[in-house]
Amino acid sequence: MLNIREQIWKRSEIIHQELYHTGKNYVALIVGGKNGKFEDCYYSIQKVLPKDKNENKILNLATFMIINISENKEIHSRKGGFTCSLIHRKGDKYYSEYLFITKRETPYIFPEEVICKKYDIEPTLENQEKVKLSIENRIYSYKHRDYEKKKRCITFEDANILDDYVINTLYLDIYNKDEELKKLNHLSGKKVSELTTEQKIEVSDYIKITLRPVLLYKSPRDSKLLVNEIPDFQTASYNELSDILITNSNECSYCKCKMSLLNKKYVESSLTFDSIISLYGHKKDNIKLCCSLCNSKKTFNNKLDI
Ligand SMILES: [Zn+2]
Repeated sequence: MLNIREQIWKRSEIIHQELYHTGKNYVALIVGGKNGKFEDCYYSIQKVLPKDKNENKILNLATFMIINISENKEIHSRKGGFTCSLIHRKGDKYYSEYLFITKRETPYIFPEEVICKKYDIEPTLENQEKVKLSIENRIYSYKHRDYEKKKRCITFEDANILDDYVINTLYLDIYNKDEELKKLNHLSGKKVSELTTEQKIEVSDYIKITLRPVLLYKSPRDSKLLVNEIPDFQTASYNELSDILITNSNECSYCKCKMSLLNKKYVESSLTFDSIISLYGHKKDNIKLCCSLCNSKKTFNNKLDI
């Protein structure tokens, strides 16, 4: 667990990044101060230009900066060529006015434009919009899949009280290629509560070594994924997927074919975001770019999709 200071620091870094990706520059007037006899301080945003949905983010970031403002009454947070500054304008110990300003050293290039160029798509506004939609649709489906996966995950402790789910060593490895899983064949058909301590360790070691769950099966539509601990499933954000597209090659990580991004119908070479360790879902550090064909080969290895 991060402490409060670290959490605030992390949150303000994220907001800084999000403001950078708006491509805009902001000016805002922040006012507020101590609330009567209490020590807490409250601030609000009095004016902001341009006015858009980021008003709250600006207020949050400015409030974090006020906490850390130095004696010379200004504070700057700079990352790459993007700086957010907070300057104290006037006030006393009860009420103060601050100016929040952002500055860019070079004009922002929208990621969709860079992505278009990388994938030989003409960077017209219409195509940039299509790229955006394509990324957004994927995030939507990954979030859904991660959510469903999380619902299926279960730890040993909770699995102990499941009455009608039994270990199944078949369906997550239909081509019988997982040598480690074969070692658990003798436990197939058993409930978790029926395992001895040694057997539980065997199962738990398999999960630790292979980073794969063990299937607890009840019926074709009802099965659980036994894990040592539930993964945190942080589905990648729009900016993270864009960064992955921009910083990686447009060749498939496995077969090296040249991938294409916008396709009206299914083509084997179309780009997919592969979650390297299936169990961990589409978390930013767990993604590799690969073509549809390679991705589907990986998925078809199991019958009850993880
Ligand atoms: Zn491939």
